[in-house]
Amino acid sequence: MSEHIEVKDVTPVKVHKPAGGMPKKRQSSRDQIYVRAVKGPIESFRRFFGFIFLALFAVIPWIQYDGHQAILLDFVDQRFTIFAMTLWPQDLTLLAYIFIVGAFALFFVTTFAGRVWCGFLCPQTTWVYMYIWCEEKIEGPRNKRIKLDERDMDFDKLWRKTAKHLAWLAIALLTALTFVGYFTPIGPLFTDFFTFNAGFWAVFSILFFTFCTYGNAGWMREIMCTHMCPYARFQSAMFDKDTFTVSYDFNRGETRGPRPRKLKHEDLAAKNLGDCIDCNLCVQVCPTGIDIRNGLQYECINCGACVDACNGVMEKMNYPKGLISFTSEERLSGGTTHIVRPKLIGYLVVLLVMIGLLVADIVTRVPLEVDLIRDRNSLYRENGRGNVENVYTLKILNKSQDTHTYTIAVEGLDSYNILGETIVTVGGGEVFSMPLSLETSPKNLSEAVTEISFHVTTTDAEGNVVEVNEPTKFLYK
Ligand code: SF4
Ligand code: SF4
Repeated sequence: MSEHIEVKDVTPVKVHKPAGGMPKKRQSSRDQIYVRAVKGPIESFRRFFGFIFLALFAVIPWIQYDGHQAILLDFVDQRFTIFAMTLWPQDLTLLAYIFIVGAFALFFVTTFAGRVWCGFLCPQTTWVYMYIWCEEKIEGPRNKRIKLDERDMDFDKLWRKTAKHLAWLAIALLTALTFVGYFTPIGPLFTDFFTFNAGFWAVFSILFFTFCTYGNAGWMREIMCTHMCPYARFQSAMFDKDTFTVSYDFNRGETRGPRPRKLKHEDLAAKNLGDCIDCNLCVQVCPTGIDIRNGLQYECINCGACVDACNGVMEKMNYPKGLISFTSEERLSGGTTHIVRPKLIGYLVVLLVMIGLLVADIVTRVPLEVDLIRDRNSLYRENGRGNVENVYTLKILNKSQDTHTYTIAVEGLDSYNILGETIVTVGGGEVFSMPLSLETSPKNLSEAVTEISFHVTTTDAEGNVVEVNEPTKFLYK
């Protein structure tokens, strides 16, 4: 049987290009964004938060606690140290609670105040603004930067571009070193790196994160927020009519357009003019290059730069401020914003419950874990003394940061003998593993399977008893 597949012409249709080829300079505001500097209370607020955030990021890995790095997320040895607490892979529930609390805090804040995380606390925004600040200091304000990019290369352009990229790279390198310092002891990391003694993976990680920081904050910028960050995509699911977002008051602003400076505010209606003078400042200061007058857009990170810019314009024009403001859709349509609403209460309740569970998990956490594995080769054996023996492997994980001496006992048997160590010393954060044999007289065993438990106990530095009962079975016949 032979079948023929019909041949089709699939030559791609040529993409239309404008006569004279593509324009040299890209036309839309999305092409190259030259962010204009803005001053105002929101900008000061964001800078303040940015500074605190950066200071915390830089200082935290250098904090020492009880002779060790206070916060160290050691993936190689699979332990996270947070001051006096060490988390292990076994503490998965605690880590899960931390992530769930973080997620619901974000849901709650987003429902209430939109993407304020993006605009004020997200590392991407903080680093982008730091890079823009460097750009502005070296290449000058927005208009100068545009002209600099348009002109041919000369000495002035060359040194400015070189200085800017070197400054960016220096920031990226320091960022990478600090970031890697959260995962490996930071003091030796800095010393080894600058004395060329760092190992391959340390150097690779530092160079990788240097490249990522430089690429993200210097080149990718808003592309990360608009095309790669998943949060931008699902945030709208949390928004409602009462969510505070940066919005343009369309009714008040339109019809937009230029007007003589001396035209009074009360005479605008007669000229069929709104409050927007169409100066475009709100677009020029926007780090994602959008025009907020076109309504809520997923690219908007709620940074408020356009609010400061427009308020400055309104002040100069002697118009009331707030043409662009943090407000709700409900408020803009003439209603009243409802702060207390079911969705917000729902998120808050779940958040509080999860915080409660997290705190309870931390408070009740026992810094000791015991694991018992029965010998699978023989269920039991009768020894020369006429007793019955079961063999186990006992693992003791000391989840604290101090060395402890543990006592091992058995519950569930009237009399017994442990053939192995019954007192062991385990260093902080270490695992002790040993095979041991448990023997008892057959007279103590009325069943083929006796439920017993190994009781491991110690006393911590404060005199509190730390104990774990690990259940298992003793088999006979
Ligand atoms: S800054 Fe204000 S006045 Fe100027 S274009 Fe934007 S909305 Fe209109
Ligand atoms: S539209 Fe305004 S708030 Fe949104 S990203 Fe641009 S400047 Fe920031």
